[in-house]
Amino acid sequence: MNRPIILGGGVAGIAAAMELADAGCKPILIESRPYLGGRVRSFVHRETNEEIDNGRHLLMGCYHTTLNLLDRLGTGHHISLQPALRVEFRDSDGSLDILSAPSWLPSPLNVLVGMMGLRRLSLRERLGLIRVGLQAKREMPDKAETVTEYLLRLGQSSRVQERLWNPLVIATLNTKPEEASARLFVEVLRLAFLSSGDDSKLAFSHVGLSQLFSPAREYIASRGGDVLLGCFASHVSRNGEEWHVELRDGRTFDTPTLLTALPWGEFSTLFNKNIQGIFPPRHNPIISLYLWFDSVGGELPDFSAMLGTSVEWMFNRRKIVGDREGESPALIECVISAADDICRMENSRIIAVVEEELRRAFPSLRSTPLLTAQVIKEKRATFAATPSVETIRPRPGYYSDGLFIAGDWTATGLPGTIEGAVRSGVAAARSLQRGK
Ligand SMILES: Cc1cc2nc3c(=O)[nH]c(=O)nc-3n(C[C@H](O)[C@H](O)[C@H](O)COP(=O)(O)OP(=O)(O)OC[C@H]3O[C@@H](n4cnc5c(N)ncnc54)[C@H](O)[C@@H]3O)c2cc1C
Repeated sequence: MNRPIILGGGVAGIAAAMELADAGCKPILIESRPYLGGRVRSFVHRETNEEIDNGRHLLMGCYHTTLNLLDRLGTGHHISLQPALRVEFRDSDGSLDILSAPSWLPSPLNVLVGMMGLRRLSLRERLGLIRVGLQAKREMPDKAETVTEYLLRLGQSSRVQERLWNPLVIATLNTKPEEASARLFVEVLRLAFLSSGDDSKLAFSHVGLSQLFSPAREYIASRGGDVLLGCFASHVSRNGEEWHVELRDGRTFDTPTLLTALPWGEFSTLFNKNIQGIFPPRHNPIISLYLWFDSVGGELPDFSAMLGTSVEWMFNRRKIVGDREGESPALIECVISAADDICRMENSRIIAVVEEELRRAFPSLRSTPLLTAQVIKEKRATFAATPSVETIRPRPGYYSDGLFIAGDWTATGLPGTIEGAVRSGVAAARSLQRGK
């Protein structure tokens, strides 16, 4: 039997392998690291012995393909969806503005009403938000337009951009608004905020990220597939009608159908082909910080979008995970996306800046000693979602001669996200089953 081979066990490769295993194709999934999940992973922090992630990953109700995959893996119950979309925006001095979408209204009306409650914006600015919603529903921006150009064209003041749109763009596209593709941003608005049902609600994992995807190994194996962990694919060549794959440990495989779910850098190195012009030119980093505070002298929210600080999101891990709520020490997670400048700073300096920002914004942390902190710099977190990238991303699926491609960087219609990666894996697997 000709078994398909999948290179890369991130969420795209997992999704592809599960789809092929379900169809009885007995795939062989080859992953270089000793675990599945790729950029979605958790590990035990040595000093505290606590499981932390490589960075908090936010999911949304509109992640239908991902949520379906987690249900198939039996880990969907580790994800909780907000009862209604609610985001608190916290200024550097601790003052609050809250977007609270009433659960009794249908979407997208609930999101619009929620936005109307942002009191730091003038009535005129709040009404101006409707224009963006209507325009985004009606037409796609020009291919070359950036988000900042788009928002200016739609009369959005600099205050609305700073207080609402920019945090949303950076969080979803991991790209600064003045560089980000307006098209991709509108895709996100349509998918998450202008659709229906639970799509706009945020979803949180209560467990370390690796726990969500690790059962994939058993899922694939129980359907006759194989998952090879710690196996680095070091060479790939075309041999007649087949692909020849060599692993670093000397093993070789031949297959007529090869599906790569590798990041684009690894894909281009391994295939060593004349395939320039399809890869995004650069990555954008994401920095995550974990801070253990001795105790908290009062209430802390589950999470906050932060304004006027280098930190963009703060998460109260004890409250989100739920198992040690109220226990000391408190564990605060912070995320800084599109973090080029801050990435160059020393970790100790980053910790000092973030500690100071948190103490100013949250009175309950003001006199609490910081016990320890961990900085995680993911320098290649996602591709920079610029307008030019949108014109070159290749479609997930058939590429050439029995070769199929997947990964968050392919043309999924989404930024570099879990949902984009999962969708690409499913699309590539279905295309492989069709033979093209
Ligand atoms: C800190 C951080 C925060 C993020 N936050 C969010 C978020 O909030 N929401 C969201 O939706 N997304 C978020 N993302 C993006 C999301 O994690 C990625 O888009 C997604 O995980 C990409 O999956 P993938 O399978 O395409 O690629 P990868 O996860 O990169 O998988 C590729 C796999 O290929 C393997 N590989 C590479 N070379 C070889 C080789 N030669 N042989 C065998 N295997 C190989 C790698 O080890 C890896 O496991 C975040 C990413 C980071 C880093």
